[in-house]
Amino acid sequence: MFESLSDRLSGVFERLTKQGALSEDDVKTALREVRVALLEADVSLPVARNFVKAVQDKATGQAVTKSVTPGQQVVKIVHDELIAVLTGEGEPGSLKIDNAPAPILMVGLQGSGKTTTTAKLAKRLKERQNKRVLMASLDVNRPAAMEQLAILGQQVGVDTLAIVPGERPEQIAQRAKTQASLGGYDVYMLDTAGRLHIDEALIAEAAAVRDIVKPRETLLVVDGLTGQDAVNVAEEFDGKIGVSGVVLTRMDGDGRGGAALSMRAVTGKPIKFVGLGEKMDAIEEFHPERIAGRILG
Ligand code: GDP
Repeated sequence: MFESLSDRLSGVFERLTKQGALSEDDVKTALREVRVALLEADVSLPVARNFVKAVQDKATGQAVTKSVTPGQQVVKIVHDELIAVLTGEGEPGSLKIDNAPAPILMVGLQGSGKTTTTAKLAKRLKERQNKRVLMASLDVNRPAAMEQLAILGQQVGVDTLAIVPGERPEQIAQRAKTQASLGGYDVYMLDTAGRLHIDEALIAEAAAVRDIVKPRETLLVVDGLTGQDAVNVAEEFDGKIGVSGVVLTRMDGDGRGGAALSMRAVTGKPIKFVGLGEKMDAIEEFHPERIAGRILG
């Protein structure tokens, strides 16, 4: 198991005798431990470095209050800074879905949990916001993926667009748009094709669909266990297609959640939801303080 940051720091400060104010040396010693803790939590190196620098500026010279140990005080400063970086703009978990029918484009690599997340979010919109949702799969190369969305739709009681063999993704998107308008849907969600790697064809396809439906939200689904890779994927998708928010999946796993910090620090995109399992209810809005707690251990 990981040693928690609080444990590490209490060890460090036991060896330090100075009291009164946090000296530069105290802070430096403590921050070495913070950096290791961040790296162990899978935060990327440049992000960990910048983060530590920001904390150092805040901590140096701060008066040590009587009620807490210097170690606890540094942990508090680190915790507050984590929350500051993790918190994005807007209500966590809110989606722009005014002006019905509102298109939501779901993008991400194959296996990231995109189809599952599409169905989870559709269910949530239906149950919590009483929205009529239509889902459509654009993954024409993988009939099994289209079938999977239809099955999940039945399971959660959300309509899916009928599958018409031989259609191009753009045609499906157009048909979804038309049906969403004519059928009086509030939201339509497009589950775009995923591939194992980002390639030109994938991006061109997603961009063409984006231009047809003009999504209110483009949600990137990334596997939260993939750390730095998740951040690279996000930068690329955002640069080429434009992303309005991120869903981190597999946050039920053993990972310490460092990808969330790197994601926010590098892309600046709000993390809107986290996936917490395979079941259709296993999704919740992103809570910065929960992730901060996990990173600190
Ligand atoms: P896609 O290829 O991106 O559409 O990925 P899928 O939606 O088919 O998901 C791939 C696998 O990951 C499936 O077995 C899902 O049940 C699983 N999965 C998706 N989201 C989560 C999550 O948040 N936690 C866990 N543990 N598994 C997930």
